[in-house]
Amino acid sequence: MNDNSYSLAGWLSLVKRDDIAPICPYCKREIKSVAFSEMTGDLGKRFIYFCTDCKAVIGVSHRKGLTFGI
Ligand SMILES: [Zn+2]
Repeated sequence: MNDNSYSLAGWLSLVKRDDIAPICPYCKREIKSVAFSEMTGDLGKRFIYFCTDCKAVIGVSHRKGLTFGI
């Protein structure tokens, strides 16, 4: 095991890869940067993250961090 891999549940490995870009689930283009916008409401300050190509929302921040289960 090198410094960039971590064992999950004994069989799945999480590998850090900065040389490839993730694909937007909506426009299927590589996400080179993620835009975010601040929202202020009753629940406090949140950040909404979206694809810079198609403007699709990728995630919304909660207090515990970024989640993708919209
Ligand atoms: Zn997109």
